[in-house]
Amino acid sequence: MWGYEVAENFLFMQVTFCRWYYGDATRREAENWLLSTPNNDGSFLIRKSQLDYEQYALSIHFRDDVRHYRIVKKGDLFINPSHRFGSLLELVEFYQEAANGLVVKLASPCINVQVPQTSGVPQVVADEWEIERNFLELGEVLGEGNFGKVYKALWKGKVEVAVKTLKTDNMDKAEFLTEAQRMKEIRHHNLVRLYGVCTRNQPFYIVTEYLCNGNLKVYLSEGAGKECGQVTLTNISTQIAEGMTYLEEKKYVHRDLAARNILVGRNNECRIADFGLSRLTQDDEYSPKGSGAKIPTRWTAPEALFNHKFSSKSDVWSFGILLHEIISKGEIPYPGMTKDEVKKVIRGPGPPMRQHPNCPDRFYEIMQMCWRQDPKERPTFYQLQCDLDQITDYGQVSYENADADRTNQAFQP
Ligand code: ADP
Ligand code: MG
Repeated sequence: MWGYEVAENFLFMQVTFCRWYYGDATRREAENWLLSTPNNDGSFLIRKSQLDYEQYALSIHFRDDVRHYRIVKKGDLFINPSHRFGSLLELVEFYQEAANGLVVKLASPCINVQVPQTSGVPQVVADEWEIERNFLELGEVLGEGNFGKVYKALWKGKVEVAVKTLKTDNMDKAEFLTEAQRMKEIRHHNLVRLYGVCTRNQPFYIVTEYLCNGNLKVYLSEGAGKECGQVTLTNISTQIAEGMTYLEEKKYVHRDLAARNILVGRNNECRIADFGLSRLTQDDEYSPKGSGAKIPTRWTAPEALFNHKFSSKSDVWSFGILLHEIISKGEIPYPGMTKDEVKKVIRGPGPPMRQHPNCPDRFYEIMQMCWRQDPKERPTFYQLQCDLDQITDYGQVSYENADADRTNQAFQP
């Protein structure tokens, strides 16, 4: 037993000193890093599998895509059972000599030049909950929303932030502060980070991190996102599912999940934004008190639209619509239909929207699960995240799971 432990430790030492080892990186981080310069065909990394922490995954850059292979650890290590290794190092050396069945032979370890976007900021700003208004220089208008204009701004002349101004006529200050306090508690890499607020004078400000590529709808339909391939579109979808999993666990219902409320940073990093309509649910469902809030018909689940029953499951419905926006690169849901026609369609038994020509079968199956009439039958965001992850999962399939292989085919060029 002791000998086994020594061997394990030795393996661990080897692993930690290898430049290709990114132990805790998530699949999406691996994709984001591998797809950013200077990484190229054959750039690779090894990370722990998120599904099974005892196993590893190999992620490789190939033709502006990333392929993932599961490394099985059963006594020894292997990707394909006919080539087995005592250590990850041996495995890497073997696949560096020749592709041996991988899409490409391994070249150099992934270089992660990405500087975290919020580096240095949260510590400085987030501790001061009330931000000094004079420290903010408002710049260009980024967007205009339900609550007021959103500006790009500089904090203390050096940190780029976004400032959301609030028309406060109908707003209860105490309610707003409670809401802001909840936003502060929400911290996840796929949710827009709140830095602070200005509430000593009017107009109130909400200050958040700035995301350079704006909202996802515009990004995909008019911006650099037009060039995104299906692996990237799936990566984007999974990032959003991941952020929503966090909200679901916190029992936070978003109520306005749509591409216009997803913001995009560098390397297709996505953050869910606009908690304007969100409320923390006391129990599983939330019914708004007043009728003041505008409801986005095309994104809203039938039980929310007709009976004001909002829950994480109504967010799941909206997520299905959001997937349609993503795969169609920003097309309006239910094109050509009026709101009343939409209302009719979403009560019906079938899926409310047809499969878009660019939409792979597996992706559409996931959308249909989101659109089940009975909210209880819709998947959780965690399930959605796992299902989306599997769409782009290469490797292991040829000998372990023939079904997964079929789903992969949807994404083969
Ligand atoms: P609302 O829904 O109340 O109008 P949003 O938060 O959705 O407010 O912001 C409106 C628009 O402003 C977004 O669609 C986006 O284009 C832009 N925007 C908002 N926040 C940011 C940000 N942090 N970074 C970059 N652009 C932003
Ligand atoms: Mg918005």
